[in-house]
Amino acid sequence: MPKTIPPRRLAALAALSLAACATPGPVVEVTQLVGPCGFDVASLGFSGDALTQARCLLRPVATGGLLSQQPADLPPSLAALIGQPVGDLKALLRRYLARQHIGDAAVGGSLDTPLSHARDDDPEAPPARYFVLHDTSVPWLGDATAFPADDDPALNDLRRFAGPDAVAHVFVNRRGETLLGHDLRVPWRATQLENRLVGVASRGLFLHVELAQPRRRDPAGSARNDLVAPVPGFTDAQYAQMALLYAAASARRGDWLVPAFHAAIDEGIAGAHDDPQHFEIARFADALECLRETLAR
Ligand SMILES: [Zn+2]
Repeated sequence: MPKTIPPRRLAALAALSLAACATPGPVVEVTQLVGPCGFDVASLGFSGDALTQARCLLRPVATGGLLSQQPADLPPSLAALIGQPVGDLKALLRRYLARQHIGDAAVGGSLDTPLSHARDDDPEAPPARYFVLHDTSVPWLGDATAFPADDDPALNDLRRFAGPDAVAHVFVNRRGETLLGHDLRVPWRATQLENRLVGVASRGLFLHVELAQPRRRDPAGSARNDLVAPVPGFTDAQYAQMALLYAAASARRGDWLVPAFHAAIDEGIAGAHDDPQHFEIARFADALECLRETLAR
């Protein structure tokens, strides 16, 4: 049964921040399993093997951040990779990036540099394992009656996300262009789970990628709500770039990372966010298959 939105929950949703992924706050120490996907503070992982974790962390996200209560039905091509060794992926990617004249910044940093480690880059702690998918929820278009075309400059200005406190590692606009906020070797937090519950132990375990997505106001909600997202949520160029980033990050780790939705990581935590909206896991899997076929040629 899908969950319904109780009135009080709706009020909370209407108050969602426009900046979907910032807002660190006071840390509440926890020692038990956290959230429906069971994050274990001691082992620094969610419950189950990599694929089980992905199925929990990639449950479809409905309006307002409500998640399906059933594990995600992942495309077989993606399910076959998650948690598995990457093989010769790094060498194939090096060749591809050179041929396409793609610089390190577009893929989150050099393939030769290790990923961050948990516990604020403690070399004894596990390396980054979670590839967290966000949407920017920016720009906010208020009561506009339609969304602009995907090539509209207003939707593709990445400079607004730049700076030493960029909220994520990498930003991808509607055209598939990227802005590097932080190299994937930099421990960086962007969820309530990391910032408010687990604290420094989680810093470096999660990699954060923001997909540009405009939002509009739901007329039935509060004056500043940003509940309405475009359908489809993302462009082919964004899925293609996301696949490349996922492959590059996984190559640096040595096995395929666990993809995760921000909303699933924060489910049940005060201040949880609603992103990404309308992310189609089948299109992501198709883009990844396309990339892998290209790499193998
Ligand atoms: Zn987010």
